[in-house]
Amino acid sequence: MELTRLSLLESALKSRYPQLAVFIVMLVGYIFAIIAGLIGTPVGSSNFSIVFVWIAWWAILILIAVPFFGRGWCAVCPIPLPGEWLQRGAVLGPHGNRWSSRRRGTDADSVLLDRRRRTETKWLNLRVPKMFRNIWLQNISFLLLALFSSVLLTTPNITGIVLAAMLFAAVGLSMVFERRAFCRYLCPVGGFIGLYSQTAPIELRIKDKQVCVKCKDKPCYHGSSAGYGCPWDVFPGGLTRNTYCGLCMECIRTCPHDNIAVNLRPFSADLAKPSARMDEAFKAFIMLGSAMIYAGVLLGPWGMFKDAAYNVGTTAWFIYAIIFLTIIFGVLPGLFTLGLLQTKGAASLKQRFASLSTALIPLGLMFWVAFSLSFVLTNASYILAALSDPLGLGWNLFDTANIAWQPMLTSVLAPAQTLALVVGLIWSARTAQKSANEAGVSPFTIIIYCLIATSVMLWLLL
Ligand code: SF4
Ligand code: SF4
Ligand code: SF4
Repeated sequence: MELTRLSLLESALKSRYPQLAVFIVMLVGYIFAIIAGLIGTPVGSSNFSIVFVWIAWWAILILIAVPFFGRGWCAVCPIPLPGEWLQRGAVLGPHGNRWSSRRRGTDADSVLLDRRRRTETKWLNLRVPKMFRNIWLQNISFLLLALFSSVLLTTPNITGIVLAAMLFAAVGLSMVFERRAFCRYLCPVGGFIGLYSQTAPIELRIKDKQVCVKCKDKPCYHGSSAGYGCPWDVFPGGLTRNTYCGLCMECIRTCPHDNIAVNLRPFSADLAKPSARMDEAFKAFIMLGSAMIYAGVLLGPWGMFKDAAYNVGTTAWFIYAIIFLTIIFGVLPGLFTLGLLQTKGAASLKQRFASLSTALIPLGLMFWVAFSLSFVLTNASYILAALSDPLGLGWNLFDTANIAWQPMLTSVLAPAQTLALVVGLIWSARTAQKSANEAGVSPFTIIIYCLIATSVMLWLLL
């Protein structure tokens, strides 16, 4: 169902003003979170940066935005904005044709493009080297945050520093590389949002392929006087998955043939065509394994593991880090590969590994939903208090500063988590069936793998 048929929605998406209004609110909130982290109270549960980033934002992201809107968060995320504004030399106006740097065609073309680049932007505007055009850097940046997460989630000034570092990294990369290099190749959050956005019931796609074939200048990619070329370095005419479309809506503005639509679709439609990329396959293992490890370490009864995770830099922490990485890069993919060895098909083991790991995407998402329900419901009561006293300075702006901590909805937590895990298992089994059909193998061992992982997660959470 095409949502952009609703003329009000289409006009809102084509206009830059509603988006700019949301961006400004988000950017102000983000900068305030940095300031609160750096100068506010060191007590995490009373500091805006911890409470609004790791409880409120995380809850909205993982329980609503990603499952239902895919990269919906990226559509309003403030992190790439300052860099993008500097790169474009404008906050609002469409100046088009600034990003025509794809190095193709004749030397004369290159000269022309180089000249155009020099005259139209004062920044370097380089293309990201080919070896980095994948999500391995995003996998590494996520793992770095994951290994330090116990400290990050509880220490306001560390959260403030990390938020500021992401903003500066995005600005720095915008000065050197074309388009949104930070979002596309480095952002630790964007990597998993992209992976799980494939399950969302929303997509941006072209309406008619033939129109794109006949379209000469491809302004959706190169930009035009109506707007900028795709900031995510995606050719919208070739989109088949949500993974790398940041829903920025530029192509809706630049397409002169009105050939871009935002559609409502069945959940996980993208997973019918499994990816064959190893970086994405390992992202699925990283996310699945991290959810399980967090459930055990942060929510489990084992004080020894918790101590090791919190005491960054100690021998115990190094052992924790080694176990963490061994589970993610050794145990989980190793057992998965053992299961695959029992299947036979025309595709190589590597191809089967990459395509069948698609089945872990819904499972991982629901593991994160189940895990997040636990700490979000336990800590949500901090939100109102932090709203009234965001820096922990004794303010009481909305008369809610003294609301006592109280876990919410405790009676429904365990059933909700169980339901999430069961839904994840069924969803993954169906995805495994489709992926296995594509690869011409039996899905049996993959479904058993998902069943065992779900049982372990259930045991860790309940
Ligand atoms: S990839 Fe990261 S920085 Fe970029 S828009 Fe998405 S969350 Fe924000
Ligand atoms: S500008 Fe529109 S018609 Fe042309 S290639 Fe892009 S999406 Fe297709
Ligand atoms: S495909 Fe369109 S909406 Fe998606 S990132 Fe590119 S320009 Fe933005």
